[in-house]
Amino acid sequence: MGLMKLDQLYRSVVLEHASYPKNYGTLSTPSDSLVLRNPSCGDIINVQIKMDNNVIKDIKFKGTGCTISKASASMMTMVIKGHTIQESHRIIKMFFDNIVNKDLSKDEQAQIGDAFLLSTVAKFPTRIRCATLSWHALSELINNKEVKVND
Ligand code: ZN
Repeated sequence: MGLMKLDQLYRSVVLEHASYPKNYGTLSTPSDSLVLRNPSCGDIINVQIKMDNNVIKDIKFKGTGCTISKASASMMTMVIKGHTIQESHRIIKMFFDNIVNKDLSKDEQAQIGDAFLLSTVAKFPTRIRCATLSWHALSELINNKEVKVND
């Protein structure tokens, strides 16, 4: 795909997610939740997960912030919902590899869904924190979970 086309696709998909975020709101009985802030931009994201054994059964987010932070959180919840903790670790790693422009295989691209398009922010280093905020929150949430499981 040409850069120009990717740019247009990026804009329309990001705007769609930011305007109509998926899994936006509050879980009634979350297993855990975490609020992370990105002071340089003013983004605040609250990620909540509902665990069923090892599986992220449900996930929602709430928050205020820029278009990229909101769109990325929406993409993240869509991709992660229904996956095990181990699978989620793999997906998170692929997402971060993608953000620093490591080449993903077609299969890996498919696994991170729309979030693949966020590699475009690598061109704007100040926006990387916006794009990764909700993913950092998820990562911390499931790291905690693993500690609890091993107890
Ligand atoms: Zn931001």
